Amino acid sequence: MKDFDKRFERQTRFAALGRAGQAQLSGARVLVVGCGALGGALAQNLARSGVGELVLVDRDIVEESNLPRQVLFDERHARERTEKSLAAKESLARIGGPTRVEALVEHVDADNIERLTAGAHLVVDGTDNLETRYLVNDVCVERDLPWVYGGVVGAGGLVLPVLPGVGPCLACLFPEPPPPGVLPTCETAGVLQPAVALIAALQSGLALRILTARSGLTPRLYEVDVWDGRVRELGVGRDPRCRCCGLREFRFLHEPVTQRATSLCGRNTVQVRGARVKPDLQRLAQALEPVARDVRHTGAILRFAVDDERYTVFADGRALIEGTDDLERALTLYDRYIGT
Ligand SMILES: [Zn+2]
Repeated sequence: MKDFDKRFERQTRFAALGRAGQAQLSGARVLVVGCGALGGALAQNLARSGVGELVLVDRDIVEESNLPRQVLFDERHARERTEKSLAAKESLARIGGPTRVEALVEHVDADNIERLTAGAHLVVDGTDNLETRYLVNDVCVERDLPWVYGGVVGAGGLVLPVLPGVGPCLACLFPEPPPPGVLPTCETAGVLQPAVALIAALQSGLALRILTARSGLTPRLYEVDVWDGRVRELGVGRDPRCRCCGLREFRFLHEPVTQRATSLCGRNTVQVRGARVKPDLQRLAQALEPVARDVRHTGAILRFAVDDERYTVFADGRALIEGTDDLERALTLYDRYIGT
């Protein structure tokens, strides 16, 4: 028995996958967008399952507060502030196996998403912001490329496999991303490791199915909660008037928000232009109360501080972040505390 066969013996014995399915997995290329909690778990699950090629992309660095959830990182990564995608690649290399891993330290946007998805058979969502998810949705529908949405916050989250032309896309169900401040985020509402693990497991199972035996799979929206021990499956359908998969208007892809971050010279401050949707400053202020200091909402301006940075958010979504001159870091912080 060849090493390869031996390694995947238990998996190929699962009849619906079999040796043919395993061979398909070994020929598959999957883009993992985001490499934190969900992305790291997805990358590990897919690599251990023998997916041939993984492209990991993340712009962030490992921090100590990631360690309860982000399975591919350890304390050394946090101490050395290693880039997440590079740390993930290192950990996957220790697991070994046939998977080739490409690790990219980039912010995913309309300028690079087409290059990142080139040659991919599937995209899995490990990102932490809705702007990127709507961009992924646009590019995948345009290219007839399946992707698996996953979102987690608190003790639960959502999973939706998007099979363009077969089932609904993200915009069929949620036409627009809600304004920042309306939905809870992991920064404001916290997040539990088992919720991450369950969402990533559902996404990974669907990913294996899509890569090997896509026909017969009926896309559904899954809603799970590990605190109440609840899993709900919701039948969902396509919206024929959907902006994205119905009318084929790929707004997030073709009208990108450009040049979002600019360093204000000599001030140790970065200005970040808002995402497409304007924030609800009132609700954002309430949501930030438990995590931020000095939260003050006056008229059209919201001010607060977290760690060493001070934030000023304007009604149009523009923000000044004092305490850094690193553009990528500022974008990460914006998405963490202000974005959706
Ligand atoms: Zn749609």
